[in-house]
Amino acid sequence: MDTRLLLGAAPALLTAAGPGGGSLRANLALNVGDDPALVHGRRAGLSRRLGRAVVWMAQTHSTRVDVVSGSDAGRWEGPEWGPLECDGVVVDARDWPGAPAVAVVVADCLPVLLATADGMTVAAVHAGRRGLAGGILTEAVARLRSLRGESAEVHAVIGPAICGRCYEVPDSLRAEVARTHPAAWATTSWGTASLDLPAAAREELAGLGVDVRAVRAVGACTRETPVLHSYRRDPACGRQAGVIAPAR
Ligand SMILES: [Zn+2]
Repeated sequence: MDTRLLLGAAPALLTAAGPGGGSLRANLALNVGDDPALVHGRRAGLSRRLGRAVVWMAQTHSTRVDVVSGSDAGRWEGPEWGPLECDGVVVDARDWPGAPAVAVVVADCLPVLLATADGMTVAAVHAGRRGLAGGILTEAVARLRSLRGESAEVHAVIGPAICGRCYEVPDSLRAEVARTHPAAWATTSWGTASLDLPAAAREELAGLGVDVRAVRAVGACTRETPVLHSYRRDPACGRQAGVIAPAR
């Protein structure tokens, strides 16, 4: 059910809620009313699958992007690192064998994973409507390139998120977001104003010279896909994760 892929040379994983009816099944977030012991257990399981620790975020719809590098080794113990209070984390694994993976949790917002071609510098970004409109994707790409050079080849994948046919918003909000992200302008399948955030993200990343061929929308709309968590479909839902690990 989970989707595995390679981004540059970096292995990535997009989890799913899976079949069943429980709102919190396979939930990976600590702030949605789930039993913390269950969440920590699932996170530890994810670390075992990846064979390394995972950095988690306390996401706040900000545009803050942090960098974790070899100087942070030993800052945490065990499989679960963080949480870092930000909405994007870059892991610079150069000269850091066994560097951790990094995860973003979502249910309708966009999980965006980034990697340099060599897979040695990776990032996970939480791009909801506010973060995306505020420029968090541009910020994350800038942080990657500040580490690896302005000409660094960057690959991105946009994981499953709510689509433009489903993400209804007031007319005024659609107009506001479309001023900076024209591709976000959309209409729901029932004819009202909406936002197409995956399209807006693709447009922004392409404009930054992120390899467009490598920007792959995997999976379908969260709201229309019962095996994925969707806040718009079920406000009591859990969160799935997008996780990316460095290539070493
Ligand atoms: Zn949809």
